[in-house]
Amino acid sequence: MATRYWLKKTLGSSYPADPSDVLNTKRRLQSQGYYDEPEYGITEYPDTPMFEGIKRFQKDNGLRVDGLMRPRGPTESQLAAKSPRYTCTICGAKHGGVYSPRVCADCYLK
Ligand SMILES: [Zn+2]
Repeated sequence: MATRYWLKKTLGSSYPADPSDVLNTKRRLQSQGYYDEPEYGITEYPDTPMFEGIKRFQKDNGLRVDGLMRPRGPTESQLAAKSPRYTCTICGAKHGGVYSPRVCADCYLK
């Protein structure tokens, strides 16, 4: 089974974040219980709950707790390996089942 990577750039509080990296990371963290969706919802902007979620995930998985995710680095690899894989019944995309096991987040929000 191929690992599904998604990061285009390094994600960390002192790096300029790619908006789609942020969204994908938040959804993946959320699907594993590492991101509590704030009142303002899941946005494409990095926020404190995201970095804390990354750190909690790193701690629980024996990774270096630096709140940093590098493309194809250990944290992304672990998170990719752990993300549940569902197939969207509308568009066929693999997704984390955050909103529903049957429909991906993109189709759900349309
Ligand atoms: Zn879909």
